[in-house]
Amino acid sequence: MKEVEDPERGRKVRVRYAPSPTGVPHIGNIRTALFNYLFAKKENGNFILRIEDTDRRRSTIEHVDKIKESLEVLGLNWDSEYLQSQRLAIYRQHLEILAKKRLTYQEEGAWRFKANTDKNQISWNDLVHGQVGFPAKIIEDFIIIKSDGFPTYHLASVVDDHEMKITHVMRGDEWISSTPKHLLLYQAFGWQPPSFAHLPPILGPSHKKLSKRDGAKSVLEYIDEGYLPQALINFLALLGWAPKGDQEIFALADLIHEFSVTRINKNSPIFNIEKLNWFNKKYLQKLSTEELVEKIKKFPGTTLKMSGNEKRLTNVISLVRDRLVTLADFDQVASIFFTKGKLEPPSKSKIQNAKKAILSVGTWDEQSITQRLNNWITVNKLDPADFKNTLRLAVFADNTPPIYQSLAVLTKEEVIVRINDAVKKAK
Ligand code: GLU
Repeated sequence: MKEVEDPERGRKVRVRYAPSPTGVPHIGNIRTALFNYLFAKKENGNFILRIEDTDRRRSTIEHVDKIKESLEVLGLNWDSEYLQSQRLAIYRQHLEILAKKRLTYQEEGAWRFKANTDKNQISWNDLVHGQVGFPAKIIEDFIIIKSDGFPTYHLASVVDDHEMKITHVMRGDEWISSTPKHLLLYQAFGWQPPSFAHLPPILGPSHKKLSKRDGAKSVLEYIDEGYLPQALINFLALLGWAPKGDQEIFALADLIHEFSVTRINKNSPIFNIEKLNWFNKKYLQKLSTEELVEKIKKFPGTTLKMSGNEKRLTNVISLVRDRLVTLADFDQVASIFFTKGKLEPPSKSKIQNAKKAILSVGTWDEQSITQRLNNWITVNKLDPADFKNTLRLAVFADNTPPIYQSLAVLTKEEVIVRINDAVKKAK
């Protein structure tokens, strides 16, 4: 069956993410992919991955892999995939079409397109910016096939968007000044152009271009730092797009449901790492302890060795989970259960007293530790905060989650060994 091609109605939405594999995509690029994906899924359309590897010198297969990994890690699955370097014959044919129409000329090896038009203004109705126009006279003849036989971005992009039946081009604002050239090519071929939506760039906190220091890292780096894919998706979706209500937590399926191009903001969103941290904390909190245990075990940044001691790992995780912003924090907040910290021990007499208290605990579990030690405080008329602090310093030499719970993670023997060590070090 022939696909319906009515430009207004009944056309199946087809969008593309068209990265150049000249680097690892940073989160700004991936946000473009995400918006395309959300729109495609919302409209029951297709999301196409088109690798624009027409810059032979700077494109690498490693970057193609990183692009795919970045999409895969977020679950942004594409319906079909193209590589422009495999389509050279198609661009050639299209050069011929334009040549026949006498719209090209060759110069120093490269082919140029004659940017002639009788219009004063080249304009379109941008889905984000509204009516956008450029004076036609500023558009000079431009190269469409380079001397190495590869097409330029302009030709490849237009030919492919047409051949791949792309209905909506959603891309970064940095391409807005290329769009008039593309429109001239559409006109020259006699094709109906797609709709355009140009996305304002994400800016850094200083309202300047997002730098690596501000957070213009790749999605893969964020994953390595212990951020969860769901948190990254949620965070990126709200950079430049706003849902109707004030709900902030959206799973991917909810985003698909809510997404609409009309709610993409004309103004640049500001990157805020605190917001990403907030989302990550929220998504960590949503995990069950079992899920979190699995994630922490699999996280490559976890160096604490806990194999063979599942129960302790589970106890530690339930104890420290509220303190985690990323998975990478686990090592740091849990280390006290594996090696002591660096804080100075309290006075010998205080530690001796704490040791007696510990020795008097019968069954070694959180409940009896709590009962016994609270009773010890009362009977010996101790200052509770001071007593707990003594234990904290003697056993962990660092800050801890609630001390009785923390003690219960270790065995009684381990606690005694640590206390004896503190006695040795104390003055
Ligand atoms: N290859 C361009 C880029 O890397 C694609 C621009 C477009 O989507 O048309 O951003």
